[in-house]
Amino acid sequence: MKIKILGASGAEFPGHNPPAYLINGFLLVDAGTLGAVLEEDEQWAIRYIILSHAHLDHIRAIPFLADNIIIKNKRHHITIMSIGDVLRQLKEHLLNGNIWPDFTTIGRYGPVLRLQEIKPETWIRIDSLLIQPVLVNHSVPATGYIIKELKGRRIISTLIYSGDTGPTERLWSLADGADVLIVEVSFPDRLSRLAQETGHLTPRLLKGELKKIQTLPRKILITHPKPQYLGLIKRELKALGIKGLRLLKEGEEIEV
Ligand SMILES: [Zn+2]
Ligand SMILES: [Zn+2]
Repeated sequence: MKIKILGASGAEFPGHNPPAYLINGFLLVDAGTLGAVLEEDEQWAIRYIILSHAHLDHIRAIPFLADNIIIKNKRHHITIMSIGDVLRQLKEHLLNGNIWPDFTTIGRYGPVLRLQEIKPETWIRIDSLLIQPVLVNHSVPATGYIIKELKGRRIISTLIYSGDTGPTERLWSLADGADVLIVEVSFPDRLSRLAQETGHLTPRLLKGELKKIQTLPRKILITHPKPQYLGLIKRELKALGIKGLRLLKEGEEIEV
């Protein structure tokens, strides 16, 4: 599995972009960043987007991508998948014909964007990837994802993505034996109360979460830090002394 990190920040500043991860060139996991970092051909290669939740920092690239497709009159469409609540919020508040055209109904060759509901803890298959959303604990309906890559009938790699979440349970009970965990840490420890009120993690809260996984993944990659506290978060993460744990770098490619 090839994971390209398009954005991995909890805010926007130069060099810090909201979360988006491109898997094997065709599956976008969250859509916080796209047009600013992907060339046109790379944008056309995206066929599916899976969303963890409908907060703006995870969906904001979708309207521009749809517009780019329309402008080129490409016979291309993108299937956006998530749980029902997330798709409803996306349609009602963003693709509603007011904020932006409703690209779920527009397109010369059929709608450019197609919404497909997926159910929590139910596997779907796209090409060689098996994907399962798992509900997590955020301030709005939200999921993490388990993504497995198959070669023939054998699973060759497993990625766990937390999305945005405060302390949670179910995802960790399914995370055993994963190769890579991409997990959010938004705030430093001294903002622990704010983190818990808004459904996010700090380094110390993350440590408690990782204890819920029996066998830790080899790589634990941290996403979504607030850039304003990046130095402090980095020091606090290092002090945890957990092997294989580091901050994600935007632009990097990870082979699992
Ligand atoms: Zn959020
Ligand atoms: Zn977020």
